[in-house]
Amino acid sequence: MPLKIIVGIKWVPNTTSVNIDPKTGTLIREGIPSVVNPHDLTAVEMALKLKDRYGGTVTAISMAPPSALAGLEHVIGMGVDRGILASDRAFAGADTLATSYVLSKVIEKIGEYDLIIMGHETIDSSTAHIGAQVASWLRLPYVYYAVDIEYNEQDRSIIVRRMLENAYETYKVYLPAVVSIAMHTYEPRRVKVSNKLRAKTEDVIQVWTSKDLDIDINCAGLRGSPTVVSAIDFVPKVPRKNLVFKERDPKKAAKWLIDQLIQEGLLEL
Ligand SMILES: Cc1cc2nc3c(=O)[nH]c(=O)nc-3n(C[C@H](O)[C@H](O)[C@H](O)COP(=O)(O)OP(=O)(O)OC[C@H]3O[C@@H](n4cnc5c(N)ncnc54)[C@H](O)[C@@H]3O)c2cc1C
Repeated sequence: MPLKIIVGIKWVPNTTSVNIDPKTGTLIREGIPSVVNPHDLTAVEMALKLKDRYGGTVTAISMAPPSALAGLEHVIGMGVDRGILASDRAFAGADTLATSYVLSKVIEKIGEYDLIIMGHETIDSSTAHIGAQVASWLRLPYVYYAVDIEYNEQDRSIIVRRMLENAYETYKVYLPAVVSIAMHTYEPRRVKVSNKLRAKTEDVIQVWTSKDLDIDINCAGLRGSPTVVSAIDFVPKVPRKNLVFKERDPKKAAKWLIDQLIQEGLLEL
C-alpha cells in the first residue's frame, strides 16, 4: 500500500537577517523576509524521496498567519501534493503545546495518514518540541533525529536509522508514526515552475480555521499556552582586539603569535 505522508513546515523570519529588540527580547519581524524553516525543507525532501520510492502522497501542513501560504506554495513547487494552512486569530500567541495541539487536530481531520514527518527544529524558536508533542497528542510512536527511513509494505512498518553522537541506532516502528529528521541530512530539491503553477492554478491549498477543526478553543493560542518567556539574558559581547601581524616569514610569525598569547595570559612556557 502506498504511503500517505504528512510533513509539518513552519514559515519563519530569515534569522540570518533578524535583530532582537534588546528591551522586549522579541524578534524584530518588521521588514524581515520569511522563508520555509530550512530544516523543514530537509523533512520535505525525505518525504518526497519516500514517495518517489514507494509511491503515495505528501501533504504539507502549517499553523501560521496567511502569509505562510507562500511557504506551502514553495514546497508544492518541490513536489508536495497539497498544503493545509491552519490559520485563525484564535491560534495567535501559541506556545509549543498549543501549536502542537492545533497541528494534531489538523492531522486528525486529514484522517488517513501513515507517517508524519517533522524537521529537527526551527531556526526562530528552536525548541524541537513539536514532533514529540504531536506524537503525544495523537498517541503515536516517535523517533527523533532520523537520517534514513525504509518502508516495509508487508507489515506496514518502517525501519528508521537515527543518528547519535558516536553511533547509529536502528528502530523498527509500526505505522502510523511520527519521525523528526536530523538537520542537513538531505539537500532539498529545487522548485519546478510547473509544480509551482499547480499551487497557483489548482485547488491544492486549503485554509482551515478553528471552525473547520474539532478544537477546544481553550487549548489553542494564548489561552491554551501554559508557558511564557519571562526573560531573555543576552550573552555579553566579548571585546575583540583585532591584532593583525603581516610578517610573511613563518618562524617570525609563530614567535609573534606565541609572544602575544603569553602576553594575554593564554599560554605559559
Ligand atoms: C514559552 C513560549 C511562548 C511562545 N509565545 C509565542 C507567541 O506569543 N507568538 C508566537 O508566534 N510564537 C510563540 N512561541 C513560539 C511558538 O510556540 C513556536 O513557534 C511553535 O510552537 C513551534 O515551536 P518551535 O518553533 O520551537 O518548533 P520546533 O519544535 O523546534 O519545530 C520542530 C518541527 O516541528 C514542525 N513545526 C514547528 N512549528 C510548526 C508550525 N507552526 N506548523 C507546522 N509545523 C511546525 C516543523 O517540522 C519543525 O521543524 C512561543 C514559544 C514558547 C516556548
